[in-house]
Amino acid sequence: MKKISKTKPKTVLIAGAAGFIGSHLSDLFIEKGDRVIAVDNLLTGNIKNLRHLVSDKNFSFQKNDISKPFRIAGPVDFILNFASPASPPDYLKYPIQTLEVGSLGTRNLLELAREKKSIFLHASTSEVYGDPEVSPQKESYWGHVSSVGVRSVYDEAKRFSEAMIMAYHRTYRLDTKMVRIFNTYGRRMRPQDGRVIPNFMTQALLGKPLTIYGKGQQTRSYCYVDDLVSGIHTLLFSNFHLPVNLGNPNEMTVMDLAKMILKRTGSRSKIVYRPLPADDPKQRCPDIALAQKVLGWKPQVPLQEGLGYTLDYFREEILRNKLR
Ligand code: UDP
Repeated sequence: MKKISKTKPKTVLIAGAAGFIGSHLSDLFIEKGDRVIAVDNLLTGNIKNLRHLVSDKNFSFQKNDISKPFRIAGPVDFILNFASPASPPDYLKYPIQTLEVGSLGTRNLLELAREKKSIFLHASTSEVYGDPEVSPQKESYWGHVSSVGVRSVYDEAKRFSEAMIMAYHRTYRLDTKMVRIFNTYGRRMRPQDGRVIPNFMTQALLGKPLTIYGKGQQTRSYCYVDDLVSGIHTLLFSNFHLPVNLGNPNEMTVMDLAKMILKRTGSRSKIVYRPLPADDPKQRCPDIALAQKVLGWKPQVPLQEGLGYTLDYFREEILRNKLR
């Protein structure tokens, strides 16, 4: 494994940098004095998430679809693969692109990592566990995924990319890391992203009914984005190459989340019920014992605090974009 100094500035390529998590990672590395090469095809990412960084001498942006071969000039210490549609409505809208970015895109980045002798970190997902039959989910759980269901375009792309990363690690001794990201929320999610927190928050703030899919008894566990990116940074400097769950084990039903957001906003919005999307997982909760053991990481931001920051953001977005 390559020895890497924590103090010397690095060059970090972030694929998917204009997305929700990619843009927060870009901020983190720029704050630490590193150089960021941001790459995005802007399919679901938004350049406005990076606008505050464009004048920074350590920041550059390259519009590229990583699914197609592309070149990067100069040395690269780290490659972070955060490029993919990630909201279920997004990957259902772009099924082929999602499969391509997870397979061809990951392969292109792995080849770039070989060429540049970079350390490679991949954003995997709790979706590799599918509709899990065990809870909480440990990394050793192999998952319960339909290979032909509608969500398979995302789930199987991410499972394939994990397999390919392990093949590069074993064949070429590439220094690779993988994070399995559980539901994450915070500033810079798109109000119309379709995920549950942006949906409920914008609905509550605009006085529209909150749309619960199914009966709302399915569970999720929500991690604030600052906690997630600090865990990713720690993983990057670790020697651990197998997948690590990062998430907040604070599990709750979708119904309880809706009630919490209604209370928090003081909104008089009603709750309406919509059909449960196909293959929607019934439960999801990370077991973070491995992250605690190998990274000394656990989330710090309580849900109420993180929801407060996120609500402030959606309030600003609603005003800025005159949403109604
Ligand atoms: N959900 C909901 N109403 C919405 C959006 C989502 O009830 O307006 C539910 C969805 O069916 C799922 C959970 O909230 O059970 C989390 O959905 P999300 O799309 O945020 O992420 P997922 O964990 O499914 O990838």
